[in-house]
Amino acid sequence: MTGPQISDNSSRAEQPLMCCPTVSRLQWEEITVMDEKNTPMRTYQVCNVMEASQNNWLRTGHIARQGARRVYVEMKFTLRDCNSLPGVPGTCKETFNLYYHESDNGGLRHVRESQYTKIDTIAADESFTQTDVGDRVMKLNTEVRDIGGLTMRGFYLAFQDVGACIALVSVRVFFKRCPHAAHNLALFPDTVTGGDSALVEVRGSCVGDAQELEPPRMFCGADGGWLVPIGRCVCKPGFEEREGRCQPCRSGFYKASSLDALCSKCPPHSHSPQERAAECPCLEGFHRAETDPRSMACTRPPSAPESLVSTVNETSVALEWTAPQDSGGRSDVTYNVHCSWCPGSGGACLPCGGIAGGPHFLPRQLELTSPRVLVTDLLPRTNYTFSVEALNGISDLSPGPRRMVSVNVTTRQKAPNPLPLVVLKERRSRDSVTLAWQEPDRALGTVLDYEVVYYEKNQREQNYTVLKTRSNIMTVDGLKPGTAYVFRVRARTDGGYGVYGGEIELETNVLAIGDPGQTSVLAMSVAGGVVLFVLLGLEKIISPLHLPSRLSPMNLYSLPIHCAQNEGQIPGSRTYIHPHTYEDPNQAVRDFAQEIEVSSIRIERVIGAGEFGEVCSGRLRLPSRREICVAIKSLKAGYSEQQRRDFLGEASIMGQFDHPNIIRLEGVVTKCKPVMIITEFMENGSLDTFLKKHDGQFTIIQLLGMLRGIAAGMKYLSEMNYVHRDLAARNILVNGNLVCKVSDFGLSRVLEDDPEAAYTTRVGRHLVAGGGKIPIRWTAPEAIAYRKFTSASDVWSYGIVMWEVVSYGERPYWEMSNQDVIKAIDEGYRLPAPMDCPLVLHQLMLHCWEKGRSERPKFCQIVSTLEQLIRSPGSLKQLANSTIWQDPSLTDLGTSTVDEWLDSIKMGQYKEHFSSSGYITLDSVQTARSTHPALPIWTRRCESSVGALAMC
Ligand code: AMP
Repeated sequence: MTGPQISDNSSRAEQPLMCCPTVSRLQWEEITVMDEKNTPMRTYQVCNVMEASQNNWLRTGHIARQGARRVYVEMKFTLRDCNSLPGVPGTCKETFNLYYHESDNGGLRHVRESQYTKIDTIAADESFTQTDVGDRVMKLNTEVRDIGGLTMRGFYLAFQDVGACIALVSVRVFFKRCPHAAHNLALFPDTVTGGDSALVEVRGSCVGDAQELEPPRMFCGADGGWLVPIGRCVCKPGFEEREGRCQPCRSGFYKASSLDALCSKCPPHSHSPQERAAECPCLEGFHRAETDPRSMACTRPPSAPESLVSTVNETSVALEWTAPQDSGGRSDVTYNVHCSWCPGSGGACLPCGGIAGGPHFLPRQLELTSPRVLVTDLLPRTNYTFSVEALNGISDLSPGPRRMVSVNVTTRQKAPNPLPLVVLKERRSRDSVTLAWQEPDRALGTVLDYEVVYYEKNQREQNYTVLKTRSNIMTVDGLKPGTAYVFRVRARTDGGYGVYGGEIELETNVLAIGDPGQTSVLAMSVAGGVVLFVLLGLEKIISPLHLPSRLSPMNLYSLPIHCAQNEGQIPGSRTYIHPHTYEDPNQAVRDFAQEIEVSSIRIERVIGAGEFGEVCSGRLRLPSRREICVAIKSLKAGYSEQQRRDFLGEASIMGQFDHPNIIRLEGVVTKCKPVMIITEFMENGSLDTFLKKHDGQFTIIQLLGMLRGIAAGMKYLSEMNYVHRDLAARNILVNGNLVCKVSDFGLSRVLEDDPEAAYTTRVGRHLVAGGGKIPIRWTAPEAIAYRKFTSASDVWSYGIVMWEVVSYGERPYWEMSNQDVIKAIDEGYRLPAPMDCPLVLHQLMLHCWEKGRSERPKFCQIVSTLEQLIRSPGSLKQLANSTIWQDPSLTDLGTSTVDEWLDSIKMGQYKEHFSSSGYITLDSVQTARSTHPALPIWTRRCESSVGALAMC
C-alpha cells in the first residue's frame, strides 16, 4: 500500500506491530498534501460534506498480534472545521469512528461492517485554522486508543467516515513491553505487558557466577515500566561484584561466603595462588581448625608449657606451670596432664590409670584451661612422673610429637586415717552457702582441722578454692547468686588428710530470702557420692515470678514461625561497629568510607536542607566506572570539630551497610573543603513527601512492595545489631523504580536533627527519661519511658511507617499533642486502619504495636508475611474499615443472643472469645461499646476483653 506510512519510531518499551498492511478504501482517496512546514505527505482523505448519509470505510489488512494482549493505535490526522467550509449543510461531521475485528484468519479479503467492533469515536483537538496572512495551514491531531484482552492471532482495523472532511496521515499500531533489565545481579527478560491493568510477575535469573540469595522477581507494569524489585542474587564464593557482574577474586584474595560483598586479602600464613579462591589454604606447618572462620590467620601448635613446679603434700601433689611462650597464634590453649608411676627400682613405669582407685585430678586431667592441677589419692612413698602438654585448636591436625614439660615426684607416707565425712545440713542465700557435716569417729584420731574445697560447677575454667576450719560448720560467702557450686570436705588428723566425702552440688539463691533459717537436711552417701536432698520449703520461695496471662490476637495472616534469621546476629553476618568505639573517629571514616577526589564530582542543584548544610544532586565519575547520579551532603562553613565528627559519623555507619534497601554510601570528601558525603541519588526524595504528592495513586501491591523493601532493609540492620531509633517515612528515600531505602544514620542519636523529636518529660505516673529528644509518635512506649531502644522498638516504628504509607503520608495521631499520644498508648489505644486498608495489614500494624516488646514480630517475619501477601493478593480484599464492633446489626435487635448475632454476621468462630470475655448478652456487648465511645476512631489492642472485640 502507499498512502500514509505506518511509522516505526517506537521507544524501547513500545513494539510496533505491523509494517504495511493492504488497505481497502472505496470512497477514501490517496492524496499528497503539504504539512505545516510545507513538506509533502501522503494521506488518505475523504471530504463528502455536501451530501448527507455518508458511510465511507477505510480498512487495513490483517495485523498479527505477536503475543501482545493489549495493543495501542496512534492516529495522526487533520479534520476540517465544518464552520470553515462555506455553505455546507448541517449534516457535516467533525469526527470519525475507529473499529476492529479480531480474527485468526489472516487472509480475509473483506470483513463485513457488522463484524467490526467499535473502539471509539475520534474527534480532533485542532482543526483547520486561519493564519494572519490568510493561508490555511493544517494542524495535525494525534489520538491514541487501546484494545485490550486480545486472544486471536491478529485483527483488522477500520476507519469509518460519516460525513467529515478528514485526512489520515499516519497510523502506528504497537504494544508495550518492559525492556530487558538487570537488577541486583539478576537479569529480567524482555516482557510483554499484561492484557488488563494487572502486573506481570517475572522471575529473574542470576548473572554468571552469581547465586540466588532470595529469588529475584520484578513486576512488569501495564505502561512498560518495571516495579517492585524483590530478592536478589549475590556473587558465589570466590567472586565479587564489579560493574554489575561477578568477577573472580584475584590471586592472593578470596571470598568465603556469598554473603560477603568483596574479596578480601588472604589472612596471614595462607595464600591463594589461583584466581577465584573461596578460601586461602594454609602455608606448610600452619593449620586452620574446622570451626575457624576462613578470615582467621592460619595457626600452628603451641610450644611446651614452662616452669613446671610440684608441691607434695602426703599423697597429693599440686602442679603449677606457666603458659607456653608461643601460643601458635591462638587463644584456645589447653593442657593435658599425663601421669606415670614407677613401682620398683629400675622397673618400667606404668600409666597411673592402672592403679586401683587411681589418682584424682582436680578440676580434671585433660583440657585444663588454667595452668594448675591438684592430684590426690596417690600411693604413698611412690615415684611418679607428671608431664604437662599444651594443645590448641589445631594440635590434632599437626603431625609430629607434642611438646611437654615433665617433673618427677615422690609421695610421702599416706594418712593413716581416712575420714570420710557426711554433710548433714546446708543453708543457702544469694551469695553464701553454709555446710555442716558429721564429725568423724573420735576413735579414728583427733581432727586438727577440716579442708573445704569448692568450685563453680559450670565454669570449665574454674579456679577451685581451698578453705580451712576447725569447726564442723562453715559458711562460704562471696558466691554468685543463682550459681551451682561443687563442694568437698575432708578432715586432717595427726595421720594427715582423710579422703574427701562425695561431692555435693549446691546452688545459691536467685532472690534474697527473708528467712535465713530455712535449711535443708542432706545426706550424702560416703561410698558412692550420691547426694539426696530434702528441700524444706525453698522451692516455694524461689518460684518464678507470676506472669500475667493475655488473650491471643486472632490474626487473618500467619507469621512464619521459622524465620531464616532471628533478630540479632546470624552466623556469617557482620556486626555493625559504632564509630564511638574508635578512639580516633577519623579512623572509623577511613575504615568504612572511600575518600573521593573532589574533581570526580559535579554538583548540579540544591535538593534539600540537612542538619549540617545543603543537600545537592550531582554526578560522580570515578576512574574506570560509569558516571552515576549522586546526592551530595556538605558540611557548612564554620563548623566545630564535634560537628565535623558527627557529620562524618553518619558516613562511617552507612559505609558498613550493603543492602538494596539501605541508602548506599559512595564515599566522602574530607581532604578539602567543604567536607562532603556522597550517596546514591534517590529520584523521588523522601517517602512522606512523595506519598503526599501522589495521594491515592498507587495500587495496594505497589504500597506493599515499598513496605516490603523497608522491612527488608530493617531486617538487615537488625541482623547487623544496628538499632535505627528514628524509623519514619520522612527518613525513607524513594528512587525512580519506587524502591524504598532506609536512610538517616545520624550519629546524634538523641535526634537533635529530627524536627519531630521532642524532649520527654514526666507524664502522669510514668518515669520518662530525660536528656535527648525522641520522635514520640513513632517510638515504642518502653523507649520513651526508659530509653529501651532495640530492634523490637524499631518494629513499633515500622508499624507506624506502615500506617503512614497506607494513609499516603497522613500524620500519625493527627493533631493530638505528644502527651495525649503517650497517655492514649498507655491506655491501650492504637491507631485505627487508614481508609481502604486491608484488614491483614492493619492486623500486622497492631502486632507491631504490642505493648510487650517480645510479642512484636521480628523483621524477618514481617518480610515473609508481606511477601506472602504480595503473592496472594486475594488475602488483601477484606478491608479493615468494618469491624464487628461497628456492625450496625448490633443495634438492631433482630437477633437475641450474642451467638446468634455472631452467626448472623458470619463471625461464629469468635463465640468462645466473647463468652470467655464475659459478653454473654447482647446488652453487655452494647454497653461495652457505649462505654468506649472512642472506638470508632481508635482501635483498642487485644489485651483487655473489649480489645478482643475490636480485633475481630
Ligand atoms: P537529610 O539530611 O538526610 O535528612 O536530607 C535532607 C533532604 O535531602 C531529604 O529529606 C531529601 O529530600 C534530600 N535527600 C537526602 N539524601 C538524598 C538522596 N540520597 N537522594 C535524594 N534526595 C536526598
